[in-house]
Amino acid sequence: MLNQFKPTWMIESIYTLMPDELKANGIKAILTDLDNTLIAWNNPSGTQELRQWLNEMKANQIPVIVVSNNNHKRVEKAVQRFDLPFVARALKPFKTGIQKALKEYQLQPDEVVMVGDQMLTDVLAANRMNIRSILVKPLTQTDAWNTRINRLMERKIQAQLMKKKNFKIQWRNHLDD
Ligand SMILES: [Mg+2]
Repeated sequence: MLNQFKPTWMIESIYTLMPDELKANGIKAILTDLDNTLIAWNNPSGTQELRQWLNEMKANQIPVIVVSNNNHKRVEKAVQRFDLPFVARALKPFKTGIQKALKEYQLQPDEVVMVGDQMLTDVLAANRMNIRSILVKPLTQTDAWNTRINRLMERKIQAQLMKKKNFKIQWRNHLDD
């Protein structure tokens, strides 16, 4: 069970992921969490860094698909200025949203990676779907109340993983670092 929370990779930020390293790992499309992974909740218009990264992905024909637990209205509002496809009410850590994204965009599990800032939702959902995952540092340190509860549990799980599963908290910049 503990292994279900283990991410494939741990990367500082989604913005450091580059097309070449994704391609080298057979990743054709990115599924990403929204809040605190792609966009900081307190900066909805996004940063220059975000826009540059999205342009880079677009230029390399790597689709970025948002898979968020938030409701349709909220997600649509957040992503429309970036013109991104999305699945709302994804119900992570259940498979629902990822399954829907794979089906809708005709992707195979081994062609995608799920990027997110939470082990309890993003990483667990990815592992249940047998797809690879990237845990990133949250863009802001402040969270909604429900996320704060998840963070407490996450710290306990990380401690267990370190103790029993040889898990190390080591943030890298690239997949093959
Ligand atoms: Mg998040």
